Amino acid sequence: MGAIPGSGVRSGRARREAGERSGGAPRVFRIPMRTRFRGQTVREGVLLHGPAGWGEFSPFPEYGPAECARWRACAEEAAFTGWPAPLRDRVPVNAIVPAVGPEQAHAMVRRARCGTVKVKVAEQGQAFADDLARVEAVRDALGPAGRIRVDANGAWDVGTAAARIAELDRRFGLEYAEQPCATLDELARVRRRVEVPVAADESIRRAEDPLKVRAAEAADIAVVKVQPLGGVAAALRVVEACGLPAVVSSAVETSVGLAAGVALAAALPELPYACGLGTAALLEGDVVADPLVPVDGMLAVRRPGVDEAALARYEIESPGWVRRLEEAVQ
Ligand SMILES: [Mg+2]
Repeated sequence: MGAIPGSGVRSGRARREAGERSGGAPRVFRIPMRTRFRGQTVREGVLLHGPAGWGEFSPFPEYGPAECARWRACAEEAAFTGWPAPLRDRVPVNAIVPAVGPEQAHAMVRRARCGTVKVKVAEQGQAFADDLARVEAVRDALGPAGRIRVDANGAWDVGTAAARIAELDRRFGLEYAEQPCATLDELARVRRRVEVPVAADESIRRAEDPLKVRAAEAADIAVVKVQPLGGVAAALRVVEACGLPAVVSSAVETSVGLAAGVALAAALPELPYACGLGTAALLEGDVVADPLVPVDGMLAVRRPGVDEAALARYEIESPGWVRRLEEAVQ
């Protein structure tokens, strides 16, 4: 991949002036999270502007250059190439209930007005009774027609997963169980022991992973994120090759990054499940004037551009991030 236009380490003003000429100076943002996510309290990344629009490069801190290359390809596709045509004009999204107490869970579901809710379970330091109380509160707030999926983030062993998924399903009804255990082998064993569909999330971090999930018969559903798969067109090919139904989820991006996920969800031939793209509100703010936030459980298929006043609140000088972008090659 070529050099990023205007990405030399210079003052913000010089970079912005260069960017206006080239259309592509990288802009680095740092936005506090409303709640801790993956151990992080801020979300950082780089915004690129090109003839096709804005793109976001926001790999997590622990990812090295080879892994970041796909995230960069996603940002460059957004800025310089554009996306495949949408097949729908809105996509359903799920609400998220973190490992909170039942009263708070109930209130969050009522406020979110989504027909599908993802509930975090198996939180470290909590008991199964906490999961039961939380999922019960969510079912109560959602009503019998709503769909509940649980996400254990790989925390259970096979026996625990099989027993708890079965009990949660029997008492409250589950749409699916996301990443109940850590490894593909464990997921495959859980899948043989429960009737509830199993979704793979953390098991899918690279383009080849969905095919491994399928080959191991480890999941019924693939959770896919557009940045680690290398962009919308690349992710479409991965989903097609994998053959499993896909749930498009975010990597907790700004609305610029979320728009790429929305474009993937809009372009998939089949979209049987609500997507995990309703995450804009997990960030304290956004870099656009009209963030991609769901209304009644739906996200409009659109592409908000960066708003300079909004970005000004979160823009930082970071030669390290510009270097990380330049070094993101395979
Ligand atoms: Mg997950």
